[in-house]
Amino acid sequence: MSFKLPDLPYRQNELEPAISERTIQFHYGKHHQTYVNKTNDLIKGTEFENASLETIVKESEGSIFNNAAQVWNHNFYFGSLSPKGGGEPGNKIARAIERDFDSFTNFREEFSKAGATLFGSGWVWLVTDQAGALDIVQESNAGNPLHSGKIPLMTMDVWEHAYYLDYQNKRPDHIDAFWKIINWPLIGERYSEITG
Ligand code: MN
Repeated sequence: MSFKLPDLPYRQNELEPAISERTIQFHYGKHHQTYVNKTNDLIKGTEFENASLETIVKESEGSIFNNAAQVWNHNFYFGSLSPKGGGEPGNKIARAIERDFDSFTNFREEFSKAGATLFGSGWVWLVTDQAGALDIVQESNAGNPLHSGKIPLMTMDVWEHAYYLDYQNKRPDHIDAFWKIINWPLIGERYSEITG
C-alpha cells in the first residue's frame, strides 16, 4: 500500500495565532510529508508492503515503525485541530474526564504537565480502554499507544519541530496555545464510538 499525505481540514494559516502558517508549512509540508515518503520506501518488499497503516504501527519495529507511526501520529494530530477549537468537552467524554481526573481543569493541568516534562521528543496522549477508562500517556519519539494495545483519543506533539519557529524554547507557551485549537466535538465522537 502506498500512503499519501492527507489534506488538512483547514487552511494552513487558519490555526494562527496558536500555530503559524510557517510552522504548518514545515511541520505538515516537510516533516509529515517526509515520514510518508520514507514509510512508502521502507515497506517495499517487506511483510508490510500491503498492510494498513494501523497494522504497521501495531506490529512493526525499528525504522519502519518510527516512520509509519510518525505518519499515523501526524494524521491524527493535524486531524484533531480546528480553527474553531478550544473550550471544554461536552457530553459523555466530559463526564468521563470528571470521573477519572476529578475535573476538566485538573485533566488539563496533568496533560500539560506531561507535555512539559517529557524529555526530548515525543507525544502526549489521552487514551481509553474498551471499557472507557481514560489515561494520560507519555511516549518518546514516534511512540504510539496502539503499539501497546491502548486506544488513542487525542494527542499533542511536543517535538521541537511542532513549535520552535513560533515559540523557540518555550514549550509551555505552545502547550497553552494547543488548548485553543483542540477539536473537542471530534474527540468526544471518538470516545462515544468506542464506548457505545
Ligand atoms: Mn511533529
